[in-house]
Amino acid sequence: MVALRTGEPVRNVVMGVRRPDDTCVWIRINAIPLRGEDGALEQVYASFEDITQRVSLEQELKRQASTDFLTGAATRRGLMARLATEFRRTRRLAASSCAVLALDLDHFKHINDTFGHAAGDIVLRHLAGRAQACIRDTDLLARTGGEEFAVLLPDTPVAAAAQLAERLRQDVERAEIAFEGHVLRITVSIGLAVIEPGDAGIAAVLSRAAQALYRAKDGGRNRVMA
Ligand code: GH3
Ligand code: MG
Ligand code: MG
Repeated sequence: MVALRTGEPVRNVVMGVRRPDDTCVWIRINAIPLRGEDGALEQVYASFEDITQRVSLEQELKRQASTDFLTGAATRRGLMARLATEFRRTRRLAASSCAVLALDLDHFKHINDTFGHAAGDIVLRHLAGRAQACIRDTDLLARTGGEEFAVLLPDTPVAAAAQLAERLRQDVERAEIAFEGHVLRITVSIGLAVIEPGDAGIAAVLSRAAQALYRAKDGGRNRVMA
């Protein structure tokens, strides 16, 4: 229709078409207007290619790149992208505040060494589940390393973030994790930082959260430090 109306070719236009069963078909459309000898538009040659499979694959690859396979948390890459967005937002809206928690399980190697890697994996999933349960839909949990996580808390002042971190810490401390007839217990150290007006970029707030985490470890673990 566009080629007919404008007399111009249509190249590689991708359209999503919803089917009656609510699934989506992605179609790539090309159309070339064909003119008669007098130059008048006579017909249009159009092709419709179903590229649904390719689009689904691309979406799945994107999802895999931003989601940690073991815990379902975001990846470090997902965290960085979201943190950059929130950083720009705090710059625009001076009143808004964004907090970052850096989490590291305490003596996690001991769990692996004593009960095996499978037990360690269960503990990691447990922690991710507890953290997800503590945060809002608009917050983001990411697995940033082996037994290290980060929580991004947009629109959260430092006092509220500290409260949440403390609640999560206690929740983890109290939990009894079942593994092959054993009861596993774990604690977590948490560093807290907020985006400051003087921060040049996201590295600054991540570094402060990491430093606060070191202080929590140095101070004896199983604690929240800001
Ligand atoms: P600390 O209190 O100082 O943090 O001690 P820690 O034992 O937690 O720290 P350390 O960094 O020495 O050990 C982290 C361990 O995490 C070592 C590594 O084998 C384990 N680990 C990393 N990724 C995974 C994983 O995906 N699954 C399991 N089960 N273990 C993992
Ligand atoms: Mg660690
Ligand atoms: Mg650790």
